[in-house]
Amino acid sequence: MSNPAQLPVAVIGGGITGLTAAYRLVQQGRIVRLFEASSLLGGAIRSERDGDWLIEAGPNSLQQTPALASFLTELGLDSVKLIARPEAKNRYIVRGGKPQAAPTSPPGLITSKLFSTGAKLRLMGEIFIRPRTRTADLSLAAFGEFHFGRELVDYGLSPFVSGVYAGDAEKLSTRHSFPSLWETEQTHGSIIRGQIAAAKAKRARGEPTGAPPIISFTEGLEALPRSLAARLPADSVSLNARVTLLTPPTSGQPWQVQWMRDNQTGTESCAAVILALPAAALAKLAIGSDDIRPLASLADIEYPPVSSLFLGYRREQITHPLDGFGMLVPPIERRSLLGVLFNSTLFTGRAPENHVALTVMTGGTRTPDLARLSDADLLSLVARELDSLLGVRGDPVFVRRTVWPRAIPQYNLGYERFLDVIATAEAAHPGLHVGGHVRDGISMTNCISSGFALAQKTLA
Ligand SMILES: Cc1cc2nc3c(=O)[nH]c(=O)nc-3n(C[C@H](O)[C@H](O)[C@H](O)COP(=O)(O)OP(=O)(O)OC[C@H]3O[C@@H](n4cnc5c(N)ncnc54)[C@H](O)[C@@H]3O)c2cc1C
Repeated sequence: MSNPAQLPVAVIGGGITGLTAAYRLVQQGRIVRLFEASSLLGGAIRSERDGDWLIEAGPNSLQQTPALASFLTELGLDSVKLIARPEAKNRYIVRGGKPQAAPTSPPGLITSKLFSTGAKLRLMGEIFIRPRTRTADLSLAAFGEFHFGRELVDYGLSPFVSGVYAGDAEKLSTRHSFPSLWETEQTHGSIIRGQIAAAKAKRARGEPTGAPPIISFTEGLEALPRSLAARLPADSVSLNARVTLLTPPTSGQPWQVQWMRDNQTGTESCAAVILALPAAALAKLAIGSDDIRPLASLADIEYPPVSSLFLGYRREQITHPLDGFGMLVPPIERRSLLGVLFNSTLFTGRAPENHVALTVMTGGTRTPDLARLSDADLLSLVARELDSLLGVRGDPVFVRRTVWPRAIPQYNLGYERFLDVIATAEAAHPGLHVGGHVRDGISMTNCISSGFALAQKTLA
């Protein structure tokens, strides 16, 4: 066999996970071949400038951990980085048909109109919960109810989960969707005491204790995949190249990666293979021969549709001060929206002067059909909701809609069955490494960490 270190590493999938892995491998002196099925790099990350409007079709912001901050510095992105504006501190949650600011501090909790006095007292009692090791996983709703009571689930956890996963707290697994909560219960019992202890430990290490800053870039989140792509050798990236078959090393032959472009088939010899793909693509991938699909059962992972509707208005069309990150709509309120982001409050440069930009999310696990409405039906439904919730009058002056038919994987109860299938495939094929939003967490920050870990495993 040829010297494996001289063969390229195949990175399959040009979303943020694959790009990060490819970048790190190139930094470490490895040759990389990145295959992307579509004509664009970045996967779910899509930013578009139209005059003074800046539209994010997919993710709108990301959380900056200390490791991510160093990475952005390394990429030279500090000069175009935007930190969420202080005006975006509030997070509104709808209760009784009105947006109420969610408490952001313990004193804020006492005066908050979002929760009843009974719910606040129930929350304070949480500090007495002792550490426990559960034998079975628990839905996020059941976990939240045990710790904080039902009202906190209905008006805190459930809307939060709609905002992050477009998911259902009754179905999501605590262990897989919020592993830090699961671990905190084991070590501290009380989540509140766990958070106090974590803040203390950070302070002792000289790290900032608050929530990580929310960030983007002047021309949107796509600056990050663009910057990574620009640092890869030009001949290392193949666009419109859908990988269909992987042949593992046999009798002195390295991995063979087979892909399709315009009905033509290409094959490349590689030392190792990184898969950074959505579940449906992993499920279709043949490994060994055309009819063997070891990851086929990943097709059962629930991926609800989400519609992202970007709307521009003149400032005077809206009575609400829009002094926040956005507004989440709890399922218990039985309305049609998952939530609304106040884009032009969150970051500068998202709307022309005297105008504001909102992004309205619909669909998700509980109301998938609302992502599939026609543009006209969705616009009239959204107009009614925005009028009643935010005092929005008249037609938007700018509209852009993106529908994600399969937006975000749901780490529902029983998700370990999918993780086991992935681990079994890796164990059967040394040199195969799987990561990305199917396995390592759904946020962009998780996917970047996943890309680093994939590169590390390949180099080991
Ligand atoms: C509407 C929406 C809003 C979101 N909001 C946020 C947010 O605000 N903040 C946040 O942190 N996260 C958010 N996320 C989640 C986050 O954007 C994604 O989880 C993350 O970008 C996924 O990156 P990835 O590289 O793992 O996968 P992807 O971005 O899905 O990339 C996978 C790539 O693989 C390619 N591919 C598929 N099949 C093949 C094949 N056979 N061969 C070659 N290539 C193939 C695809 O074309 C795609 O480019 C959001 C996601 C969506 C959809």
